[in-house]
Amino acid sequence: TDSILTPARRPEDVDAALRPKTLDEFVGQKAARENLRIFIAAAKSRGDALDHVLFFGPPGLGKTTLAQIIARELGVGFRATSGPVIAKSGDLAALLTNLEDGDVLFIDEIHRLAPAVEEILYPAMEDRCLDLIIGEGPSARSVRIDLPKFTLVGATTRQGLLTQPLRDRFGIPVRLHFYTVPELEKVVTRAAMLLDLGIAPDGAAEVAKRSRGTPRIAGRLLRRVRDFANVAGDAIVTAKIADAALTRLEVDNLGLDAMDRRYLTMIADIYRGGPVGVETLAAGLSEPRDTIEEVIEPYLIQLGLVARTARGRCLNALGWKHLGLNPPPGAQD
Ligand code: ADP
Repeated sequence: TDSILTPARRPEDVDAALRPKTLDEFVGQKAARENLRIFIAAAKSRGDALDHVLFFGPPGLGKTTLAQIIARELGVGFRATSGPVIAKSGDLAALLTNLEDGDVLFIDEIHRLAPAVEEILYPAMEDRCLDLIIGEGPSARSVRIDLPKFTLVGATTRQGLLTQPLRDRFGIPVRLHFYTVPELEKVVTRAAMLLDLGIAPDGAAEVAKRSRGTPRIAGRLLRRVRDFANVAGDAIVTAKIADAALTRLEVDNLGLDAMDRRYLTMIADIYRGGPVGVETLAAGLSEPRDTIEEVIEPYLIQLGLVARTARGRCLNALGWKHLGLNPPPGAQD
């Protein structure tokens, strides 16, 4: 599924331009923000590197942004890479040995590290050293290299995707949540200012409501709405303009797209509201199970349209109503 509501980064996203640069500028995620503030201050006062941080949560919620903010607030260097990019243990060794004391190394999609690469990460994180094997066969020997005191910041969509030994090595696990509509209104208003776009409060509210709890999507929808406003010759984005633009883009009033509606309709029409297993839904929708579990369902569950139960997925009363159907007796609220 690839629509304007896909939360993964797309080529047209101008993420960097919209990134908050400090914890104070960062909207929402209050618990995460306040905890990080304390841990950063403590590390600074001890003159020590910050403990390793693991961010987990759906794409587009600010994991990369927070990693950069951590480095900036600590006043240290920032290096970024991602799990699938590090092919060999030598690649990781090169990255690690080039760090300076205190630096932040950010590894996005850290659950996708090759097992051999992950192995050398353990002693690097725990004892800040590398154990490398040099040579082959009988003449092979192992050398130990000390590393600078660095902070690893890992990002993943679900904590459960990480192996237990890797998970255990992060002192600061941080879960990120979908943003509330008022929080997204702030994100949209701020982004409009940075994009030099006039927006009325009700316009910002409309975009916020339809952004799937995700700042990246808010930024993307705002830019599409701007296009419509420009063409219509409107200087200020109002709720009416935002609604017209987003309806044209097939983003409905809850921020659902055609795929979400197909998912809901399938549970309603074919499985009478469920329960139905995720594999069955994946086959019926011709979508990978991962996409269903990581992209489609989290937001539908958050809205209370669908429930994940031990026996499968069930449509809640709200889900039926969103499709314009009467919930059958027994549908959960
Ligand atoms: P992730 O790494 O979780 O996929 P990013 O950190 O790349 O997400 O953020 C995606 C986009 O959303 C960026 O443009 C970023 O500026 C914006 N963004 C994320 N969190 C916030 C926030 N709290 N306030 C404002 N903008 C945000």
